[in-house]
Amino acid sequence: MSWSRTLLWFIFWFALAASVQYRWDTAVGWIILTLACGVILTIRRRQANRVAVWAAHPETDPPADVGQWEDMVASLYRHTRGQAIAVRTLQETNDAVMSAAQALPIGAITLNKDFQIRWFNAAAEKILHLKPAQDIGQNLLNLLRSPPFVAYAKQTTWEEPLILKIALEGKTQSIMMRLVPYAEDQLLLIARDLTQIEKLETTRRDFVANVSHEMRTPLTVLSGFLETLREAPKGALSEEQSQHYLKLMHEQALRMEALVSDLLTLSALETSLSADRNLVQMSELVESARQQAESLSGARHIFHWEIEPNLNLLGNQTELSSAITNLLTNAVRYTPDGQSITVQWRLQPDGSARYSVTDTGIGIASEHIPRLSERFYTVDRGRSRAMGGTGLGLAITKHVAMRHDAQLDIQSKLGAGSTFSLVFAPDRVITAC
Ligand code: ADP
Repeated sequence: MSWSRTLLWFIFWFALAASVQYRWDTAVGWIILTLACGVILTIRRRQANRVAVWAAHPETDPPADVGQWEDMVASLYRHTRGQAIAVRTLQETNDAVMSAAQALPIGAITLNKDFQIRWFNAAAEKILHLKPAQDIGQNLLNLLRSPPFVAYAKQTTWEEPLILKIALEGKTQSIMMRLVPYAEDQLLLIARDLTQIEKLETTRRDFVANVSHEMRTPLTVLSGFLETLREAPKGALSEEQSQHYLKLMHEQALRMEALVSDLLTLSALETSLSADRNLVQMSELVESARQQAESLSGARHIFHWEIEPNLNLLGNQTELSSAITNLLTNAVRYTPDGQSITVQWRLQPDGSARYSVTDTGIGIASEHIPRLSERFYTVDRGRSRAMGGTGLGLAITKHVAMRHDAQLDIQSKLGAGSTFSLVFAPDRVITAC
């Protein structure tokens, strides 16, 4: 468009200059034409310069007043804008995909055909203890140094995952790995840490075995006595013997009842993570626990009570009652006659509240202490059973503590007694005037 305008302009002035020359026989027209051409060329050169400067950064706004370059500049600008938008969209898509891959809860590692690491996400970093700064570009087979993984990697297809036991940073981990080929000669390695799942599975199996074992013993005793009573010829058992058998059967039935009751309590505690926040009058709860403990003790122990009357909690009354009674009855069970038990319920300087039961009983060797709150863990199973224990009391107490944002603290020395404490966070503590 502008080129044709320039051409028309030139033809017009050329014709005018030729007419002037012809009519008046003077070169004035040609001089004017030459001058005008000079001016136009200068203007065009400046416009071309502006275009050249802009063309180095065509994504910026195009320059104004570029004469005949205008059409070209406009279409180049439109094209560059279109490209920039396409690149930005691609970049955003790429960023979103990479963020999603980073956030995957399973480990993902991309490898080339020689098993050199090209990229890995945060979960892979954690599971396989990889370090981005030094492991990118390394050969995964050399890093893992696991013959089963090398054998797996050398397969040509990977239909099944491999479960690998490897020692990483001193810990044996169970990791499920699966290779998936993609694109051309690229491999994606998926890694899942199964250590925790396997541990839970073992705990579950142990739990079922323990429950069955604990139930079988009283059931065997019960059915044994029932058989004896049923099959004994009339008059073969004295009244005294019969009463004795019935007493033993009753004890076993009570034991099963206690077990089932503790199991139900545990399963109820597991249904939610946090306990209610009802106002619980702790002095009333301790009073009720006191009656049970003193009745169980039958005046065989010396009790000391140091209870702050106006110190209360936000929590679940039934659960708290079960926890504080458990600690107290344990102290009675595991403290020989004539010795003392001290119960304290106190506000701490940091605003927390501590319920503690200190006995001068048999105490516990240090290696058992970390395991005491495991289900069915007992230091001496025979003694626990003889005392009417189920092995679930501290597991219940620990659960109640967790649900009330409290810590179960155990201090004990073999032969010298123990202190079991529940420390409740200030957020759960209410001090009434
Ligand atoms: P149990 O029903 O057997 O008492 P717990 O879970 O309440 O089960 O306690 C687990 C084990 O911790 C008990 O078997 C006992 O060995 C030990 N234990 C608990 N409290 C005391 C204590 N006050 N003194 C000594 N040992 C204790």
